[in-house]
Amino acid sequence: MLHGSCLCGGIRYRVHGPLRDVVHCHCSFCRKAHGAAFRTRARLATRDLEFVAGNNLLTWYRSSPDQHRTFCRVCGANLITRFDLQPGEISLALGTLDDDPGVRPRAHLHVASKAPWYEITDGLAQYHAGER
Ligand SMILES: [Zn+2]
Ligand SMILES: [Zn+2]
Repeated sequence: MLHGSCLCGGIRYRVHGPLRDVVHCHCSFCRKAHGAAFRTRARLATRDLEFVAGNNLLTWYRSSPDQHRTFCRVCGANLITRFDLQPGEISLALGTLDDDPGVRPRAHLHVASKAPWYEITDGLAQYHAGER
């Protein structure tokens, strides 16, 4: 089992199942939402994530017609994204984990939207847009 939390610690969660499909996403939505060069996220089954504290602090923003990004309303930490079209699956901001998940990023997505001030220097695969 893995543990994670937001910056202020008000929201705490546990991951009970496998994390997969870890990527760095450079799309403008992820850059804006995280205030960073990219968002590193993993996919997991919705049922495998359990909030153990601060469920009431989780705030939602609909960033696309079918996507809801969440963040802590106290500290602003980005947590999960839910997909209306894929309710059984969520995306988790890996930076909020307190444990090593074991899995590692495999690719950079939406490289066409990359911040001009950030240079990718690793050997991971790069995709102009998403993969699907
Ligand atoms: Zn917080
Ligand atoms: Zn993105």
